[in-house]
Amino acid sequence: MATTRVTDAVAAAWRELVDTARRSVADGLVVGTSGNVSVRVGEDLVLVTPSGVPYDRLTPDDVTGVDPSGRRVLGGLAPTSELPLHLAVYADTDARAIVHTHAVHATAVSTLVDRLPLVHYMAAALGGQIRTAAYATYGTKELAENVRLALRDRTGCLLRNHGTLTYGATLSQAYDRTAQLEWMCRVWLTASSVPGLSPSLLSETELAAAADRLRGYGQPG
Ligand SMILES: [Zn+2]
Repeated sequence: MATTRVTDAVAAAWRELVDTARRSVADGLVVGTSGNVSVRVGEDLVLVTPSGVPYDRLTPDDVTGVDPSGRRVLGGLAPTSELPLHLAVYADTDARAIVHTHAVHATAVSTLVDRLPLVHYMAAALGGQIRTAAYATYGTKELAENVRLALRDRTGCLLRNHGTLTYGATLSQAYDRTAQLEWMCRVWLTASSVPGLSPSLLSETELAAAADRLRGYGQPG
């Protein structure tokens, strides 16, 4: 039963969430409705993409919200089946927005390695070397727990044989981190596919130096 009012702030957050979800399809990070996006509004409300509704059909009337325990407080549509995953990340981190995708290069890498090899210093922008969360059935608390472990000191991870999850202070930051992660996975796959050669990798020291610099400048790049 809907008990929360759609304030201007909620309506604006919903618009931004729908825009982000549509962008993930337009940019090729999501096929159909295979990803999901959420954003926190205040402390008691999490807006999430509803389950199974194509993003181009979402309207302002479809606003879907739950409280931090997962109880639906806004809208008539069922929340994404990955709700336990989103709520676990909010409970465990300072995330204000989360993007989950099945982006092709990142998903391919999730089937190959436990950690994304350090092919590029932008790993530092996600907190360090990216881990792959152990596999569990989608939508389960077990998957949420595996992702929680893989995210320790990171703002993104791979989900084995499944996809990606990143979070941020805003939807655009969470989205940019997904795009960055997918790009790094693509770089590694591309470099790894040259017969007879293997990519050079950064050391932890080199990554730490890049992290210092990213912190110092505030702006990645
Ligand atoms: Zn998924």
